[in-house]
Amino acid sequence: MRYDILTPRKIVFGWGRRTEIGELARWLGRRGLTVGGSKTLKGHPMLDVMKASIRRAELEMVDLWDITREPEVIDIDEVAAAVVRNGVKEGDFLIAIGGGAAIDTAKAIAAMVTNRHGDSVQDFLEGVGRGLTIENAPLPVLAIPTTAGTGSEATKNAVISSYDPPFKKSLRSERMLPDVVLVDPELTVSCPASVTAASGMDAITQLVESFVSIRATPFTRKICRRGLRAVFEGHGGEPAIVRAVEQPTDRRAREAMSHAALLSGIALANSGLGMAHGVAAALGVHARVRHGLACAVMLPIAMKVNQDTVSNDFAELGRLFSGRDIRDEDEAIETSLDITQRINERIGIPRRLSELGVLPEQIPAIVRSSRGNSMNGNPREIDDAELTALLESHL
Ligand SMILES: [Zn+2]
Repeated sequence: MRYDILTPRKIVFGWGRRTEIGELARWLGRRGLTVGGSKTLKGHPMLDVMKASIRRAELEMVDLWDITREPEVIDIDEVAAAVVRNGVKEGDFLIAIGGGAAIDTAKAIAAMVTNRHGDSVQDFLEGVGRGLTIENAPLPVLAIPTTAGTGSEATKNAVISSYDPPFKKSLRSERMLPDVVLVDPELTVSCPASVTAASGMDAITQLVESFVSIRATPFTRKICRRGLRAVFEGHGGEPAIVRAVEQPTDRRAREAMSHAALLSGIALANSGLGMAHGVAAALGVHARVRHGLACAVMLPIAMKVNQDTVSNDFAELGRLFSGRDIRDEDEAIETSLDITQRINERIGIPRRLSELGVLPEQIPAIVRSSRGNSMNGNPREIDDAELTALLESHL
């Protein structure tokens, strides 16, 4: 047995623990450059409490940027250049308070500020860049997720998009893991239902894909099981995601989803993903479908594609999702798929790609853009002809 495990240096998890932000930030430096990403939290008393905690810790806080969409190459280039122009001081660090977009943005800026040997962040991106690598340690990052989904608070990459030319690729380095992570599930209570639904399905997709990935290890598989149990056990017979969508203030459900999202990030950073994430990136580029929603729609499709290759794993998931000891393997596999589809229906995730605005003529480009790091983790290879047929049949 042989594996590497990368995790943030410190993870602080718990309802209401946002008040500890000042102390945690002081651990990292003296001036926090802040990237915000939560529209609903803006002007919210919860954010004021955090700012007061930072002031009490006698730290300086500079509002760098509020990002309301997934980050693009130009965004990272401009903000990183502005930070450098204004002068980086000893003790500077990044604070990200938001969903995956804000956390990815902060991680990318932290890396680009200290790695000025390229012309653009694009030079460093997988598959499309000049193959430049992160040579210098990024500025430290304190990540505070306000959605329960991407797990970006525990991963070593930042996903950056471009629409001309079209791509959605990762800036990736083992040095990019956030140093300190503060997960306060109460911050997710103000998420709109559609965000709770899509980001929650992203976390579930990440747990399922990491579980069956060809790069999975005994460590990551254990993490995935624990994350999925958090979702499927102990919520009165309903998955936590359904309760969080339908009863936004359900504390146990919110805690479970934040925990699952964090574990999904730890898992995927160490095991990679699969087909749903490969195609989701392409749907983002060519049809502007947001990440969580794209994953949610793709998850049942990817499960079906892989179920014969890793039948034992999907049978295990069927038992875990249902809480029943289903003896018949085929029945257990079917159950994993049925339950996933039923959750999607219940929380308003569409079934077909056309409902996301995907057009038939976009399929060839989507197939081309699906290739990359995520797709390489899929339990079996899917060639272009098969992927094309698959996507067409789900239009
Ligand atoms: Zn994801």
